[in-house]
Amino acid sequence: MFFAKAKKRALYLEQSIKELSANITELEKQNSVNLAILSSMAEGVIAVSKDIKILSINPAVEKVFNIDKKDFVGRFLLEVIPNNDIVDLITISLKNKEHISREIDLVWPVKKNFQVNAYPIFENSVISGCLIVMHDVTELRRLEAMRKDFVANVSHELKTPLTSIKGFVETLLEGALEDKENSRHFLKIIQDHADRLNNLINDLLDLSSFESKESGLDLEEFNLKDFADDVLFGFRAQLKKKDVTLTNDLPADIMIKADKDKIEQVLTNLIDNAIKFNKQHGFVRIYCQSQDDKIKVYVEDSGSGILPKDIPRIFERFYRVDKARSRELGGTGLGLSIVKHIIELHGGSVGVESAEGLGSSFWFTIPK
Ligand code: ADP
Repeated sequence: MFFAKAKKRALYLEQSIKELSANITELEKQNSVNLAILSSMAEGVIAVSKDIKILSINPAVEKVFNIDKKDFVGRFLLEVIPNNDIVDLITISLKNKEHISREIDLVWPVKKNFQVNAYPIFENSVISGCLIVMHDVTELRRLEAMRKDFVANVSHELKTPLTSIKGFVETLLEGALEDKENSRHFLKIIQDHADRLNNLINDLLDLSSFESKESGLDLEEFNLKDFADDVLFGFRAQLKKKDVTLTNDLPADIMIKADKDKIEQVLTNLIDNAIKFNKQHGFVRIYCQSQDDKIKVYVEDSGSGILPKDIPRIFERFYRVDKARSRELGGTGLGLSIVKHIIELHGGSVGVESAEGLGSSFWFTIPK
């Protein structure tokens, strides 16, 4: 009787141990899944106790705050991450027992913007800590700032010629119309401003169609030298006016597969600039280098050149080294950004080499 009872208890114990170890294995499995999720998350995750000591931190947070020591568990969050904004957010969430979200601009150790969410953690309806999830919104904010800048630039660029047109029309209506000589001069100014508005709107429409990826490429194979000769033909008057010599040193046998209309826009913009920003009696030369699977085309000029500080921004929309000079020459400040978009649509890249006072060499690559 005694042995039977003891055997039953032993069996029961063995069964319990088996169940327990199965549970532990299951928990371990669950834990490693959770750890893998936390480690692979792009968002930063921090768990703290209710006295704001660290329970865990995921690698995304370690990377942002440059935390290389692993002994942060149990330490005050502020010691490891010296950021009062995050601690304030946690304090409020713990006090109000509710989720709060706030944008925090980090200046140290990196300049970044985060949308930080603090969620209270409850254990048996009692608050035991707080979970912080940080979303990196730096890129979003950068794009928003760019969009705001763009809208401000466009409005300004449209407003300037419109104000002039309005002013001259009013002057004409107030009596200048009777003054034959001046009225012609005023009408010519109105025409110039209207042309500027037209150019600007055409450039903006081009840019927006490239950006919305609506414009597919109409690819065809053609001879680059012959094509460049056709484009150059249109610049005769401009070249003569400035006495600039233009040479087409492209080899006769280079064939490319590209969208002819768009490559015409690229060459037109680069050659127009090379003449516009050139000196009297200067030169422009077009030549190329053959690289593995692409051709690098150069448009070289003997113009004013570009300062090293301006070079990284030269392909940005509306970036002009000398705003007044660009406007005077009929520029919109969008030519180079259009060139960049078209070449990138073709899978190539653009750039410039320049020495101030000696000239510039704009280049683009195009797959063979
Ligand atoms: P735009 O010519 O209408 O002003 P772009 O986008 O074509 O606008 O060029 C932007 C700016 O880059 C110009 O305003 C000018 O300051 C500079 N730039 C472009 N091409 C040249 C060049 N060949 N030589 C010197 N500066 C240039």
